[in-house]
Amino acid sequence: MVSMDPIRVLVSGAAGRMGQYVVNAVQSAPGMQVVAAVDPAGIGKRLIDICDTCDETLVIGGHLTAAIEDTAPQVMVDFTRPEIVMGNIETALNHKVACVVGTTGFSETDIKLVQRMCEKKGAPAIIASNFSIGANLMMRFAAEAARQFEYADIIERHHEGKADAPSGTALTTAQLMAAAREGDSFETVPTPVSKLDGARGGSTHGIQVHSVRMKGYVADQEVVFGAAGETLTIEHRTTSRECFMPGVLLAVRKVLSLEGLTYGIDSIL
Ligand code: NAD
Repeated sequence: MVSMDPIRVLVSGAAGRMGQYVVNAVQSAPGMQVVAAVDPAGIGKRLIDICDTCDETLVIGGHLTAAIEDTAPQVMVDFTRPEIVMGNIETALNHKVACVVGTTGFSETDIKLVQRMCEKKGAPAIIASNFSIGANLMMRFAAEAARQFEYADIIERHHEGKADAPSGTALTTAQLMAAAREGDSFETVPTPVSKLDGARGGSTHGIQVHSVRMKGYVADQEVVFGAAGETLTIEHRTTSRECFMPGVLLAVRKVLSLEGLTYGIDSIL
């Protein structure tokens, strides 16, 4: 018989910009509840001060292992930092806690490592560089257009506090576009005279990637395609971090029924 008990969720990075949204979204969603929160920057802070409906006895802890052992969560949602996340995933999987990970900055080697950890520990994980439905459709459309154009640039714009550049979404988009072309690289336009280092952005799969960082943005991306006599721009704009929550909640609901590592949310949308 299917258990009707709410899914027990631990939020890692709970005091951060995304973590606070996740605490509220999980606690308000039917069929799940926040049972623990970890963030060294918020130790001792009461969760009720972040989220009205949280249990008033819950406080943010500083130790993931202790929080898992004390509260027996089924799912850890992690929005922390690139240099922290691999350790958190390993700790969670070692305790057979499923992972829903939004933290960005993974290398291909990291992804393979998580895949192996999931198989070895027999616990599932979902890692997605972008949980917004609109951004995932933008990536899907960009992969479709990639087959038809010779030139492509990605321009991503994020808030001033973002730790990594380019964004995980930009790199994932480039990977999907490259995969859609089955090894046929984009054309790169050479610039014989460079007057400023980095003016053309960074290059991956023949795609130039440009990162803008400043106050005022949350997370935007344009994918620009070019061919003789025309350009096509596919653009996604974020106006609030709320846009990531439906994807996060979907992943929390689905992850326990999956096996191994699911990379991206396209397959569960
Ligand atoms: P943030 O800096 O506001 O929050 C990160 C939090 O992690 C901080 O509060 C920090 O104290 C905490 N932290 C540090 N070490 C920790 C540890 N060992 N255990 C638990 N918490 C720890 O950053 P943010 O804007 O909330 O973004 C977090 C991550 O999410 C970034 O990698 C960002 O790129 C990514 N992100 C992903 C998506 C997506 O849809 N996948 C969307 C937005 C942001």
